Amino acid sequence: MAEPIPEIQLPPITILANGSNDAEREANLKTVLSSPGYPETLFMLVEVFERRVEDVLLDYTRDSVAVRFRIDGVWHEFPPRDRVPGDYMLAVLKKIANLDHTDRRSKQSAEFGAKYRGSTMRLTLTTQGVRTGERVLLSIGYKGRDIEKFEDSTIRPAMLEQWVGLLRSPSGLVLTSAMPGDGKTTIWRCSLNAADRFVRDFIGFEDKRHSEPEVINVDVQTYDSSAGETPLKLLPQALLKQPDVLCLSDLVSGDVFDSFLDQAVDQQKFVIGHIPARSATEALVRVLALGTDPELLAKTVQGVLYQRVLRKLCDNCRQPYSPPPELLKQLGIRPGRVQTLYGEWQPPPPEMQVDEKGNPIEIPICPRCHGVGYQGRAAIYELLVVNDEIRDAIRRKADLAEMMTITSKAHVPLRDEGVVLVAKGVTSVEELQRVLQR
Ligand SMILES: [Zn+2]
Repeated sequence: MAEPIPEIQLPPITILANGSNDAEREANLKTVLSSPGYPETLFMLVEVFERRVEDVLLDYTRDSVAVRFRIDGVWHEFPPRDRVPGDYMLAVLKKIANLDHTDRRSKQSAEFGAKYRGSTMRLTLTTQGVRTGERVLLSIGYKGRDIEKFEDSTIRPAMLEQWVGLLRSPSGLVLTSAMPGDGKTTIWRCSLNAADRFVRDFIGFEDKRHSEPEVINVDVQTYDSSAGETPLKLLPQALLKQPDVLCLSDLVSGDVFDSFLDQAVDQQKFVIGHIPARSATEALVRVLALGTDPELLAKTVQGVLYQRVLRKLCDNCRQPYSPPPELLKQLGIRPGRVQTLYGEWQPPPPEMQVDEKGNPIEIPICPRCHGVGYQGRAAIYELLVVNDEIRDAIRRKADLAEMMTITSKAHVPLRDEGVVLVAKGVTSVEELQRVLQR
């Protein structure tokens, strides 16, 4: 008699399938339960959740599926999967997202949910046929992952105090800035949370297409940029509510922005805006490049807070070392200040990966970061407090190079802020270098 095939022990994930009604959601889930791709899908999701992967990219080519995971903002290549099981898995993912699994050409996108270890994740599946096959992006939203308050971030207390002071200015303008995909939500939400939302009335102007999550006590109005609308459409109506603070998370054009800055000058409103850039100084140059009136900007702007995100070393496996004096000198750390720096985990050299008989031994992988060496993120900040010299440079629309010469005297460089985190062992020299080169 043949041995019974042992049943596969499925991981403890509950899939919350998508569908237009309960019956459809139930039917979609029921369909995939018996699919050969179902166990494979669950095992992949477990790996994704355990590693706290933010995005999964699957590239389908003729014979195989290339797999990439984005963890703490960095893409990692994983072993490719065979095409056939990969196809089954994709069919399952599409079904639970309520997409047409037979359509491998059109761009399709939808959400579904999953429960694992007491947390509920929202997953967005986007598929698109490409020349070589099909490209699949699975983005995972983890609840409560973003920092809400600067107090929980790595900003220096003295800098935070200065920034909060600027955020409480009675009128004028402050800007937040970061590179696209570099924690805009965090710097925006933390800044609004640090402003005095309970004393003054705030109105937020958000693009429907990429609106930021709500902040308590900010009355958010949305416009639809895909229909050609701008925040200007909402401004007259919003002003009837007599707000004190106008929050613009997307600066779309100089004309629109001028209308907000006019409010800051004539009506004593306070404006908070966000613009993507590579530094606080570049943020100012970019606002000018939108066609904003230089005189208005010079008159109103008080300061810019810029953020750049870096990965934290995994505190379970980071490796201490005594930094050579040249390195300390390079970093600008005074001799004797720091005895130990930390680097990311490295596997032992090949000669140590065998026993006395020359047989390979298994190298244990850190259970917390799964061998990546980093886990979680921190940020470095640059605060530019605008002084008269900078105002003059704005008035004459100085270019980036000149502006940087002027602002370099007014703030601590981002690099030095990063060195503080290196000296504290929060991150590594290599990670700081990687982030500064971006
Ligand atoms: Zn680790």
